[in-house]
Amino acid sequence: MTRSTKGGQKGARYAILVLDMLDDFVNGKLKCARAKRIIPNIKVLLEEARKKGVPVFYCNDEHLPIDTYEMKLWGPHAMKGTRGAQVIKELAPAKSDYIVPKRTYSAFDGTGLERALKGIYGGKGADTVVITGLHTNICDRHTAYDAFVRGLNIVVAEDGVEAFTEQDHLSGLEYMKQVYGAQVKKVSEIAKKL
Ligand code: ZN
Repeated sequence: MTRSTKGGQKGARYAILVLDMLDDFVNGKLKCARAKRIIPNIKVLLEEARKKGVPVFYCNDEHLPIDTYEMKLWGPHAMKGTRGAQVIKELAPAKSDYIVPKRTYSAFDGTGLERALKGIYGGKGADTVVITGLHTNICDRHTAYDAFVRGLNIVVAEDGVEAFTEQDHLSGLEYMKQVYGAQVKKVSEIAKKL
């Protein structure tokens, strides 16, 4: 695979990922007060992406009761078919957006995301993923790992991701930067480059 551009630069083939901006994660079972502040930022990014024809992928937890690995640790959350598993109304997907249900932390794990990313841009595929959503140190980080090992460039929206605590948020950003070479940028900066 050859790539003439690096992520974050003009000419990159972007895909925007929105992770777990679901009712249970923002308002419900795993309520996160800090998630509120990123909603308007993600909204700005998504509007810009749709305007420019950059594909948007909602990667949403949709658990089954047999997902005991997570049930034991977090309790039931974003259970398939429940309101808690729905994207919050402020960020409701547009018709042109893709929905990727997932059952683990990573949006790539057992989902069709990789295939979908390869199919966009007329089959050339995306070369850069922009990570937004929850949580910086959990699903964002695990998704970044899977993007990294697939050779994708990673941009993390600094003000478009959040975690339960400031420390979790900052450590997640730092980890993705150091270990996966992620570029950490503000939404305003990313939106301009799309
Ligand atoms: Zn989960």
